[in-house]
Amino acid sequence: MEEFDFLVIGGGPGGYVGAIRAAQLGLKTACIESRGTLGGTCLNVGCIPSKALLHSSDLYKKAKTEFKNIGININEPSLDLAKMMSHKAKGVEGLTKGIEFLFKKNKITYIKGFGSFKDKNTISVIDQSNNQKDYKFKNAIIATGSVPTSLPNIEIDEKTVVSSTGALNLSSVPKKLVVVGGGYIGLEMGSVWLRLGAEVQVIEYLDYITPGMDREVSDAFLKILQKQGMQFNLSTKVISVKKNKNGATVTVEKNGAKSDINCDIVLMSVGRKPNTVGLNLDKIGVKLDSKGRIETDHKYKTNLDNIYAIGDVIDGPMLAHKAEEEGIAIAELLSGKSGHVNYNVIPGVIYTSPEVASVGKTEEQLKEQKISYKIGKFPFAANARAKINDEGDGFVKILADEKTDRVLGVHMIGPDVGNMIAEIALAMEFGASAEDIARTCHAHPTYAEAIKEAALAVDKRAIHF
Ligand code: FAD
Repeated sequence: MEEFDFLVIGGGPGGYVGAIRAAQLGLKTACIESRGTLGGTCLNVGCIPSKALLHSSDLYKKAKTEFKNIGININEPSLDLAKMMSHKAKGVEGLTKGIEFLFKKNKITYIKGFGSFKDKNTISVIDQSNNQKDYKFKNAIIATGSVPTSLPNIEIDEKTVVSSTGALNLSSVPKKLVVVGGGYIGLEMGSVWLRLGAEVQVIEYLDYITPGMDREVSDAFLKILQKQGMQFNLSTKVISVKKNKNGATVTVEKNGAKSDINCDIVLMSVGRKPNTVGLNLDKIGVKLDSKGRIETDHKYKTNLDNIYAIGDVIDGPMLAHKAEEEGIAIAELLSGKSGHVNYNVIPGVIYTSPEVASVGKTEEQLKEQKISYKIGKFPFAANARAKINDEGDGFVKILADEKTDRVLGVHMIGPDVGNMIAEIALAMEFGASAEDIARTCHAHPTYAEAIKEAALAVDKRAIHF
Protein backbone atom coordinates (compact mmCIF):
# COMPACT_ATOMS: atom_id res chain seq x y z
CA MET A 1 0.00 0.00 0.00
CA GLU A 2 1.40 3.39 -0.98
CA GLU A 3 2.27 5.71 1.93
CA PHE A 4 2.38 9.53 1.84
CA ASP A 5 4.03 12.01 4.22
CA PHE A 6 1.27 14.56 3.56
CA LEU A 7 -2.10 13.19 2.46
CA VAL A 8 -4.75 15.89 1.96
CA ILE A 9 -8.48 15.22 1.71
CA GLY A 10 -10.04 18.02 -0.35
CA GLY A 11 -8.62 19.90 -3.33
CA GLY A 12 -9.94 23.39 -2.48
CA PRO A 13 -7.76 26.45 -1.76
CA GLY A 14 -6.74 25.01 1.62
CA GLY A 15 -5.94 21.52 0.36
CA TYR A 16 -4.36 22.24 -3.02
CA VAL A 17 -2.22 25.15 -1.79
CA GLY A 18 -1.08 23.09 1.22
CA ALA A 19 -0.22 20.20 -1.11
CA ILE A 20 1.89 22.43 -3.37
CA ARG A 21 3.80 23.91 -0.41
CA ALA A 22 4.35 20.43 1.11
CA ALA A 23 5.70 19.12 -2.21
CA GLN A 24 7.98 22.16 -2.53
CA LEU A 25 9.38 21.27 0.89
CA GLY A 26 10.13 17.71 -0.22
CA LEU A 27 7.24 15.84 1.43
CA LYS A 28 5.74 12.91 -0.48
CA THR A 29 2.32 14.45 -1.12
CA ALA A 30 -1.09 13.38 -2.43
CA CYS A 31 -4.45 15.15 -2.63
CA ILE A 32 -7.79 13.32 -2.70
CA GLU A 33 -10.69 15.15 -4.39
CA SER A 34 -14.16 13.75 -5.10
CA ARG A 35 -15.54 16.58 -7.27
CA GLY A 36 -13.79 15.53 -10.49
CA THR A 37 -12.05 18.92 -10.72
CA LEU A 38 -9.59 20.65 -8.39
CA GLY A 39 -10.08 24.08 -6.80
CA GLY A 40 -12.90 23.24 -4.37
CA THR A 41 -15.86 25.48 -3.70
CA CYS A 42 -13.80 28.56 -4.54
CA LEU A 43 -12.96 27.74 -8.14
CA ASN A 44 -15.95 25.60 -9.05
CA VAL A 45 -18.99 27.16 -7.34
CA GLY A 46 -17.72 30.08 -5.27
CA CYS A 47 -15.26 32.95 -5.57
CA ILE A 48 -14.31 32.55 -9.22
CA PRO A 49 -17.65 31.93 -11.00
CA SER A 50 -19.34 34.58 -8.83
CA LYS A 51 -16.67 37.12 -9.73
CA ALA A 52 -17.02 36.24 -13.43
CA LEU A 53 -20.76 36.99 -13.28
CA LEU A 54 -20.21 40.12 -11.18
CA HIS A 55 -17.75 41.41 -13.78
CA SER A 56 -19.95 40.56 -16.80
CA SER A 57 -23.13 41.92 -15.23
CA ASP A 58 -21.32 45.11 -14.19
CA LEU A 59 -20.19 45.70 -17.78
CA TYR A 60 -23.72 44.99 -19.04
CA LYS A 61 -25.25 47.48 -16.63
CA LYS A 62 -22.64 50.11 -17.43
CA ALA A 63 -23.19 49.66 -21.16
CA LYS A 64 -26.94 50.03 -20.60
CA THR A 65 -26.99 52.96 -18.22
CA GLU A 66 -23.64 54.73 -17.97
CA PHE A 67 -21.95 54.76 -21.37
CA LYS A 68 -24.28 57.49 -22.64
CA ASN A 69 -23.26 59.76 -19.72
CA ILE A 70 -19.69 59.88 -20.97
CA GLY A 71 -20.43 60.26 -24.66
CA ILE A 72 -20.46 56.65 -25.81
CA ASN A 73 -23.60 56.03 -27.82
CA ILE A 74 -24.42 52.42 -28.56
CA ASN A 75 -27.53 50.53 -29.56
CA GLU A 76 -29.46 49.21 -26.56
CA PRO A 77 -27.32 46.24 -25.42
CA SER A 78 -29.04 42.88 -25.20
CA LEU A 79 -28.24 40.02 -22.89
CA ASP A 80 -27.00 36.65 -24.11
CA LEU A 81 -27.18 34.86 -20.77
CA ALA A 82 -26.14 31.49 -22.18
CA LYS A 83 -22.95 33.06 -23.52
CA MET A 84 -22.28 34.86 -20.23
CA MET A 85 -22.60 31.51 -18.46
CA SER A 86 -20.37 29.69 -20.93
CA HIS A 87 -17.73 32.44 -20.61
CA LYS A 88 -17.83 31.85 -16.85
CA ALA A 89 -17.62 28.05 -17.29
CA LYS A 90 -14.66 28.37 -19.67
CA GLY A 91 -12.77 30.52 -17.18
CA VAL A 92 -13.46 28.06 -14.37
CA GLU A 93 -12.35 25.12 -16.50
CA GLY A 94 -9.10 26.82 -17.42
CA LEU A 95 -8.29 27.59 -13.80
CA THR A 96 -9.11 24.11 -12.47
CA LYS A 97 -6.95 22.56 -15.21
CA GLY A 98 -4.22 25.01 -14.18
CA ILE A 99 -4.13 23.40 -10.73
CA GLU A 100 -3.82 19.95 -12.30
CA PHE A 101 -0.81 21.31 -14.18
CA LEU A 102 0.67 22.68 -10.93
CA PHE A 103 0.17 19.27 -9.30
CA LYS A 104 2.10 17.59 -12.14
CA LYS A 105 4.82 20.22 -11.99
CA ASN A 106 5.25 19.66 -8.25
CA LYS A 107 4.95 15.84 -8.52
CA ILE A 108 1.84 15.67 -6.34
CA THR A 109 -0.29 12.54 -6.68
CA TYR A 110 -3.87 13.55 -7.53
CA ILE A 111 -6.24 10.86 -6.27
CA LYS A 112 -9.69 11.22 -7.81
CA GLY A 113 -12.41 9.90 -5.51
CA PHE A 114 -14.12 10.19 -2.15
CA GLY A 115 -11.89 9.66 0.89
CA SER A 116 -12.84 8.32 4.30
CA PHE A 117 -10.74 7.18 7.24
CA LYS A 118 -10.37 3.42 7.61
CA ASP A 119 -8.21 3.76 10.71
CA LYS A 120 -5.79 6.28 12.24
CA ASN A 121 -3.20 5.65 9.52
CA THR A 122 -5.25 4.66 6.47
CA ILE A 123 -7.66 6.42 4.11
CA SER A 124 -9.91 4.50 1.73
CA VAL A 125 -10.79 6.16 -1.55
CA ILE A 126 -13.77 5.16 -3.70
CA ASP A 127 -13.54 6.43 -7.26
CA GLN A 128 -16.35 7.24 -9.70
CA SER A 129 -16.42 3.63 -10.97
CA ASN A 130 -16.85 2.43 -7.37
CA ASN A 131 -13.33 0.98 -7.12
CA GLN A 132 -11.80 1.20 -3.67
CA LYS A 133 -8.12 1.74 -2.91
CA ASP A 134 -6.43 2.32 0.43
CA TYR A 135 -3.54 4.70 1.16
CA LYS A 136 -1.34 4.97 4.28
CA PHE A 137 -0.29 8.33 5.64
CA LYS A 138 2.22 9.73 8.10
CA ASN A 139 0.07 12.88 8.36
CA ALA A 140 -3.45 13.44 7.00
CA ILE A 141 -4.83 16.93 6.46
CA ILE A 142 -8.61 17.31 6.37
CA ALA A 143 -9.52 20.20 4.05
CA THR A 144 -13.05 19.19 3.11
CA GLY A 145 -14.46 22.71 3.22
CA SER A 146 -18.07 23.70 3.74
CA VAL A 147 -21.51 23.35 2.15
CA PRO A 148 -24.54 25.70 2.06
CA THR A 149 -27.09 25.54 4.88
CA SER A 150 -30.79 26.32 4.79
CA LEU A 151 -33.45 27.13 7.38
CA PRO A 152 -35.53 24.43 9.08
CA ASN A 153 -38.12 22.93 6.72
CA ILE A 154 -36.84 24.85 3.68
CA GLU A 155 -35.45 22.44 1.16
CA ILE A 156 -33.02 23.61 -1.52
CA ASP A 157 -33.87 22.01 -4.90
CA GLU A 158 -31.40 24.19 -6.90
CA LYS A 159 -34.21 25.03 -9.32
CA THR A 160 -36.77 27.25 -7.57
CA VAL A 161 -35.18 27.35 -4.13
CA VAL A 162 -31.48 27.69 -4.83
CA SER A 163 -28.23 27.97 -2.90
CA SER A 164 -25.40 30.09 -4.30
CA THR A 165 -24.55 27.11 -6.53
CA GLY A 166 -27.96 27.26 -8.26
CA ALA A 167 -27.88 31.08 -8.34
CA LEU A 168 -24.65 30.87 -10.35
CA ASN A 169 -26.38 28.77 -13.00
CA LEU A 170 -29.88 30.15 -13.62
CA SER A 171 -30.89 29.64 -17.24
CA SER A 172 -32.98 32.82 -17.43
CA VAL A 173 -33.19 36.09 -15.54
CA PRO A 174 -35.86 35.75 -12.85
CA LYS A 175 -38.59 38.39 -12.83
CA LYS A 176 -38.35 38.47 -9.07
CA LEU A 177 -35.62 37.01 -6.89
CA VAL A 178 -35.99 36.82 -3.12
CA VAL A 179 -32.66 36.57 -1.32
CA VAL A 180 -32.89 35.15 2.20
CA GLY A 181 -29.90 36.48 4.18
CA GLY A 182 -28.09 39.81 3.83
CA GLY A 183 -24.54 38.46 3.98
CA TYR A 184 -21.88 38.88 1.32
CA ILE A 185 -22.87 35.87 -0.83
CA GLY A 186 -26.54 36.92 -1.01
CA LEU A 187 -25.65 40.53 -1.80
CA GLU A 188 -23.11 39.59 -4.49
CA MET A 189 -25.51 37.17 -6.20
CA GLY A 190 -28.42 39.60 -5.69
CA SER A 191 -26.33 42.31 -7.41
CA VAL A 192 -25.64 40.05 -10.40
CA TRP A 193 -29.33 39.36 -11.05
CA LEU A 194 -30.41 42.92 -10.26
CA ARG A 195 -28.01 44.24 -12.91
CA LEU A 196 -29.28 41.67 -15.40
CA GLY A 197 -32.86 42.87 -14.91
CA ALA A 198 -34.42 40.99 -11.95
CA GLU A 199 -36.35 42.65 -9.17
CA VAL A 200 -34.39 41.68 -6.05
CA GLN A 201 -35.75 41.67 -2.51
CA VAL A 202 -33.48 40.75 0.40
CA ILE A 203 -34.96 39.41 3.64
CA GLU A 204 -32.69 39.82 6.66
CA TYR A 205 -33.45 38.76 10.22
CA LEU A 206 -31.21 41.44 11.79
CA ASP A 207 -31.87 45.19 11.55
CA TYR A 208 -28.71 45.63 9.45
CA ILE A 209 -26.87 43.77 6.69
CA THR A 210 -23.44 42.08 6.53
CA PRO A 211 -23.09 41.11 10.21
CA GLY A 212 -19.54 41.47 11.55
CA MET A 213 -18.76 44.44 9.30
CA ASP A 214 -18.04 47.91 10.75
CA ARG A 215 -21.57 49.32 11.20
CA GLU A 216 -20.84 52.67 9.58
CA VAL A 217 -19.69 50.88 6.42
CA SER A 218 -22.57 48.42 6.61
CA ASP A 219 -25.12 51.29 6.87
CA ALA A 220 -23.52 53.14 3.94
CA PHE A 221 -23.47 49.91 1.91
CA LEU A 222 -27.20 49.37 2.56
CA LYS A 223 -28.03 52.87 1.31
CA ILE A 224 -25.94 52.42 -1.83
CA LEU A 225 -27.58 49.07 -2.65
CA GLN A 226 -31.02 50.60 -2.07
CA LYS A 227 -30.11 53.44 -4.43
CA GLN A 228 -29.24 50.78 -7.03
CA GLY A 229 -32.75 49.36 -6.69
CA MET A 230 -32.22 46.42 -4.33
CA GLN A 231 -35.10 46.14 -1.86
CA PHE A 232 -34.58 45.18 1.78
CA ASN A 233 -36.86 43.82 4.48
CA LEU A 234 -34.78 44.09 7.66
CA SER A 235 -35.75 42.74 11.10
CA THR A 236 -37.81 40.22 9.17
CA LYS A 237 -38.02 36.50 9.78
CA VAL A 238 -38.66 33.95 7.05
CA ILE A 239 -41.33 31.54 8.28
CA SER A 240 -41.69 29.29 5.25
CA VAL A 241 -41.00 28.91 1.55
CA LYS A 242 -43.68 27.11 -0.46
CA LYS A 243 -43.17 26.20 -4.09
CA ASN A 244 -46.05 26.71 -6.53
CA LYS A 245 -46.52 26.58 -10.30
CA ASN A 246 -45.26 30.15 -10.80
CA GLY A 247 -42.26 29.89 -8.47
CA ALA A 248 -42.54 30.22 -4.71
CA THR A 249 -44.27 32.07 -1.91
CA VAL A 250 -42.07 33.25 0.93
CA THR A 251 -43.97 33.86 4.16
CA VAL A 252 -42.27 36.39 6.41
CA GLU A 253 -42.95 37.90 9.81
CA LYS A 254 -42.11 41.41 10.97
CA ASN A 255 -43.19 42.87 14.33
CA GLY A 256 -45.56 39.92 14.76
CA ALA A 257 -47.34 40.52 11.41
CA LYS A 258 -47.13 37.85 8.72
CA SER A 259 -47.12 38.53 4.98
CA ASP A 260 -46.44 36.67 1.73
CA ILE A 261 -43.94 37.54 -1.00
CA ASN A 262 -44.35 35.85 -4.37
CA CYS A 263 -41.32 35.35 -6.56
CA ASP A 264 -39.92 33.03 -9.23
CA ILE A 265 -36.67 32.16 -7.46
CA VAL A 266 -35.61 32.08 -3.80
CA LEU A 267 -31.90 32.23 -3.00
CA MET A 268 -31.12 30.79 0.42
CA SER A 269 -27.92 32.46 1.57
CA VAL A 270 -28.09 32.02 5.31
CA GLY A 271 -24.60 30.63 5.77
CA ARG A 272 -22.45 27.58 5.23
CA LYS A 273 -21.63 24.65 7.46
CA PRO A 274 -18.43 22.62 7.81
CA ASN A 275 -18.37 19.54 5.63
CA THR A 276 -17.37 16.35 7.44
CA VAL A 277 -19.93 13.98 5.89
CA GLY A 278 -18.64 10.49 5.13
CA LEU A 279 -15.14 11.02 6.56
CA ASN A 280 -15.74 8.44 9.32
CA LEU A 281 -14.41 10.84 11.95
CA ASP A 282 -16.47 9.25 14.71
CA LYS A 283 -14.94 5.87 13.90
CA ILE A 284 -11.38 7.12 14.45
CA GLY A 285 -12.37 9.51 17.25
CA VAL A 286 -11.66 12.97 15.76
CA LYS A 287 -13.52 15.54 17.86
CA LEU A 288 -15.91 18.19 16.52
CA ASP A 289 -16.94 21.37 18.34
CA SER A 290 -20.54 22.42 19.10
CA LYS A 291 -20.88 23.97 15.62
CA GLY A 292 -19.77 20.80 13.81
CA ARG A 293 -16.30 22.16 12.98
CA ILE A 294 -13.24 19.98 13.45
CA GLU A 295 -11.56 21.00 16.69
CA THR A 296 -7.86 21.83 16.31
CA ASP A 297 -5.11 23.42 18.39
CA HIS A 298 -3.30 26.54 17.14
CA LYS A 299 -1.09 24.30 14.98
CA TYR A 300 -4.10 22.73 13.20
CA LYS A 301 -3.71 19.39 15.03
CA THR A 302 -6.92 17.54 15.90
CA ASN A 303 -7.08 15.46 19.06
CA LEU A 304 -5.20 12.76 17.08
CA ASP A 305 -1.44 13.27 16.72
CA ASN A 306 -1.11 12.70 12.96
CA ILE A 307 -4.42 14.18 11.75
CA TYR A 308 -4.78 17.92 11.03
CA ALA A 309 -7.53 20.15 9.65
CA ILE A 310 -7.57 23.50 7.84
CA GLY A 311 -9.88 25.86 5.93
CA ASP A 312 -13.66 26.17 6.14
CA VAL A 313 -13.96 22.91 8.08
CA ILE A 314 -12.33 24.52 11.16
CA ASP A 315 -12.97 27.71 13.15
CA GLY A 316 -12.42 31.15 11.57
CA PRO A 317 -13.70 33.15 8.61
CA MET A 318 -14.85 31.00 5.70
CA LEU A 319 -12.60 32.63 3.12
CA ALA A 320 -10.39 31.17 0.40
CA HIS A 321 -7.28 33.16 1.35
CA LYS A 322 -7.61 32.14 5.02
CA ALA A 323 -7.75 28.49 3.89
CA GLU A 324 -4.69 29.03 1.64
CA GLU A 325 -2.64 30.57 4.44
CA GLU A 326 -3.52 27.65 6.69
CA GLY A 327 -2.54 25.19 3.94
CA ILE A 328 0.89 26.81 3.71
CA ALA A 329 1.26 26.98 7.49
CA ILE A 330 0.49 23.28 8.03
CA ALA A 331 2.90 22.21 5.26
CA GLU A 332 5.65 24.32 6.85
CA LEU A 333 4.88 23.13 10.38
CA LEU A 334 5.05 19.50 9.28
CA SER A 335 8.41 20.22 7.59
CA GLY A 336 9.91 21.53 10.82
CA LYS A 337 9.44 25.19 9.89
CA SER A 338 7.50 27.80 11.82
CA GLY A 339 4.32 28.13 9.73
CA HIS A 340 1.96 30.74 11.12
CA VAL A 341 -1.21 32.67 10.22
CA ASN A 342 -1.91 36.15 11.62
CA TYR A 343 -5.66 36.05 12.24
CA ASN A 344 -5.68 39.76 13.09
CA VAL A 345 -4.88 40.57 9.47
CA ILE A 346 -7.28 38.57 7.28
CA PRO A 347 -8.88 40.95 4.77
CA GLY A 348 -12.50 40.53 3.74
CA VAL A 349 -13.92 41.84 0.47
CA ILE A 350 -17.41 42.08 -1.02
CA TYR A 351 -17.16 42.35 -4.80
CA THR A 352 -20.25 44.45 -5.43
CA SER A 353 -20.08 47.81 -7.14
CA PRO A 354 -18.76 49.73 -5.29
CA GLU A 355 -16.67 47.14 -3.49
CA VAL A 356 -16.45 46.81 0.28
CA ALA A 357 -13.19 45.81 1.98
CA SER A 358 -11.98 45.62 5.53
CA VAL A 359 -9.17 44.28 7.66
CA GLY A 360 -8.53 44.34 11.40
CA LYS A 361 -10.87 45.50 14.13
CA THR A 362 -14.19 47.28 13.62
CA GLU A 363 -15.18 50.30 15.69
CA GLU A 364 -17.69 48.11 17.53
CA GLN A 365 -14.95 45.60 18.46
CA LEU A 366 -12.65 48.37 19.71
CA LYS A 367 -15.45 49.75 21.91
CA GLU A 368 -16.25 46.30 23.23
CA GLN A 369 -12.58 45.62 23.99
CA LYS A 370 -12.22 49.07 25.58
CA ILE A 371 -9.35 50.04 23.29
CA SER A 372 -9.05 53.82 22.79
CA TYR A 373 -8.82 54.81 19.15
CA LYS A 374 -8.69 57.71 16.72
CA ILE A 375 -10.61 57.79 13.43
CA GLY A 376 -9.47 59.16 10.08
CA LYS A 377 -12.08 59.23 7.30
CA PHE A 378 -11.92 60.37 3.71
CA PRO A 379 -14.78 60.27 1.16
CA PHE A 380 -14.24 59.07 -2.41
CA ALA A 381 -16.28 62.12 -3.50
CA ALA A 382 -13.13 64.15 -2.68
CA ASN A 383 -10.75 61.78 -4.51
CA ALA A 384 -9.90 63.12 -7.97
CA ARG A 385 -9.77 59.76 -9.74
CA ALA A 386 -13.08 58.57 -8.28
CA LYS A 387 -14.72 61.92 -8.98
CA ILE A 388 -13.67 62.07 -12.63
CA ASN A 389 -14.87 58.48 -13.14
CA ASP A 390 -18.28 59.15 -11.49
CA GLU A 391 -17.39 56.75 -8.67
CA GLY A 392 -17.67 59.08 -5.69
CA ASP A 393 -19.80 56.80 -3.47
CA GLY A 394 -18.11 55.56 -0.31
CA PHE A 395 -15.18 56.34 1.95
CA VAL A 396 -12.05 55.04 3.66
CA LYS A 397 -12.11 54.77 7.45
CA ILE A 398 -8.91 54.17 9.40
CA LEU A 399 -8.96 53.24 13.07
CA ALA A 400 -5.65 53.86 14.86
CA ASP A 401 -4.60 53.35 18.46
CA GLU A 402 -5.14 56.56 20.42
CA LYS A 403 -1.73 56.45 22.11
CA THR A 404 0.59 54.66 19.69
CA ASP A 405 -1.11 55.60 16.36
CA ARG A 406 -0.75 51.95 15.27
CA VAL A 407 -3.34 50.98 12.63
CA LEU A 408 -5.91 48.66 14.23
CA GLY A 409 -8.45 48.35 11.46
CA VAL A 410 -9.43 49.81 8.10
CA HIS A 411 -12.87 49.70 6.51
CA MET A 412 -13.59 50.95 3.03
CA ILE A 413 -16.42 51.15 0.57
CA GLY A 414 -15.64 52.48 -2.87
CA PRO A 415 -14.07 51.76 -6.27
CA ASP A 416 -11.47 48.97 -6.36
CA VAL A 417 -11.11 48.82 -2.56
CA GLY A 418 -10.84 45.02 -2.84
CA ASN A 419 -7.39 45.51 -4.38
CA MET A 420 -6.51 48.48 -2.19
CA ILE A 421 -6.99 46.55 1.06
CA ALA A 422 -3.69 44.71 0.33
CA GLU A 423 -1.79 47.92 1.11
CA ILE A 424 -3.40 48.06 4.53
CA ALA A 425 -2.84 44.36 5.24
CA LEU A 426 0.85 44.82 4.44
CA ALA A 427 1.03 47.96 6.58
CA MET A 428 -0.61 46.16 9.50
CA GLU A 429 1.73 43.15 9.16
CA PHE A 430 4.62 45.60 9.55
CA GLY A 431 2.95 47.25 12.55
CA ALA A 432 2.52 50.55 10.70
CA SER A 433 1.13 53.67 12.31
CA ALA A 434 -1.38 55.91 10.54
CA GLU A 435 1.48 58.39 10.17
CA ASP A 436 3.58 55.78 8.32
CA ILE A 437 0.80 55.50 5.73
CA ALA A 438 0.30 59.28 5.67
CA ARG A 439 4.00 59.84 4.96
CA THR A 440 4.10 57.25 2.15
CA CYS A 441 3.98 58.83 -1.31
CA HIS A 442 0.91 57.51 -3.21
CA ALA A 443 0.71 57.90 -6.99
CA HIS A 444 -1.65 60.54 -8.33
CA PRO A 445 -4.36 60.25 -9.52
CA THR A 446 -5.29 56.93 -7.88
CA TYR A 447 -8.10 55.70 -5.68
CA ALA A 448 -5.37 54.71 -3.18
CA GLU A 449 -4.76 58.39 -2.44
CA ALA A 450 -7.98 58.16 -0.40
CA ILE A 451 -6.09 55.84 1.98
CA LYS A 452 -3.28 58.36 2.40
CA GLU A 453 -5.81 61.13 2.99
CA ALA A 454 -7.70 59.04 5.57
CA ALA A 455 -4.37 58.40 7.32
CA LEU A 456 -3.73 62.17 7.33
CA ALA A 457 -7.26 62.66 8.67
CA VAL A 458 -6.37 60.52 11.71
CA ASP A 459 -4.19 63.51 12.68
CA LYS A 460 -6.86 65.98 11.41
CA ARG A 461 -4.72 67.13 8.50
CA ALA A 462 -6.34 65.73 5.33
CA ILE A 463 -5.47 67.97 2.40
CA HIS A 464 -8.42 67.56 0.05
CA PHE A 465 -11.32 67.45 2.53
P1 FAD B 1 -13.45 23.99 -0.27
O1 FAD B 1 -13.08 25.00 -1.25
O2 FAD B 1 -14.89 23.85 0.09
O3 FAD B 1 -12.90 22.61 -0.83
C1 FAD B 1 -13.15 21.39 -0.21
C2 FAD B 1 -13.08 20.30 -1.26
O4 FAD B 1 -13.09 19.05 -0.58
C3 FAD B 1 -14.28 20.26 -2.19
O5 FAD B 1 -13.85 20.36 -3.53
C4 FAD B 1 -14.94 18.91 -1.94
O6 FAD B 1 -15.41 18.30 -3.13
C5 FAD B 1 -13.78 18.10 -1.38
N1 FAD B 1 -14.20 17.01 -0.48
C6 FAD B 1 -15.04 17.10 0.57
N2 FAD B 1 -15.12 15.90 1.20
C7 FAD B 1 -14.32 15.06 0.52
C8 FAD B 1 -13.98 13.69 0.68
N3 FAD B 1 -14.45 12.97 1.71
N4 FAD B 1 -13.13 13.13 -0.21
C9 FAD B 1 -12.60 13.86 -1.24
N5 FAD B 1 -12.89 15.16 -1.43
C10 FAD B 1 -13.73 15.75 -0.56
N6 FAD B 1 -13.99 33.30 -0.40
C11 FAD B 1 -13.15 34.33 -0.64
O7 FAD B 1 -12.09 34.42 -0.01
N7 FAD B 1 -13.44 35.28 -1.60
C12 FAD B 1 -14.59 35.23 -2.32
O8 FAD B 1 -14.81 36.10 -3.17
C13 FAD B 1 -15.48 34.17 -2.08
N8 FAD B 1 -16.63 34.09 -2.79
C14 FAD B 1 -17.46 33.04 -2.57
C15 FAD B 1 -18.64 32.97 -3.31
C16 FAD B 1 -19.51 31.92 -3.12
C17 FAD B 1 -20.77 31.85 -3.93
C18 FAD B 1 -19.19 30.89 -2.18
C19 FAD B 1 -20.11 29.72 -1.98
C20 FAD B 1 -18.02 30.94 -1.44
C21 FAD B 1 -17.15 32.02 -1.62
N9 FAD B 1 -15.97 32.14 -0.89
C22 FAD B 1 -15.14 33.20 -1.10
C23 FAD B 1 -15.61 31.16 0.16
C24 FAD B 1 -14.56 30.18 -0.35
O9 FAD B 1 -15.05 29.53 -1.50
C25 FAD B 1 -14.22 29.17 0.74
O10 FAD B 1 -13.85 29.84 1.91
C26 FAD B 1 -13.06 28.27 0.31
O11 FAD B 1 -13.36 27.58 -0.88
C27 FAD B 1 -12.72 27.27 1.41
O12 FAD B 1 -11.66 26.47 0.99
P2 FAD B 1 -11.43 25.01 1.58
O13 FAD B 1 -10.19 24.51 0.91
O14 FAD B 1 -11.48 25.03 3.05
O15 FAD B 1 -12.68 24.15 1.11
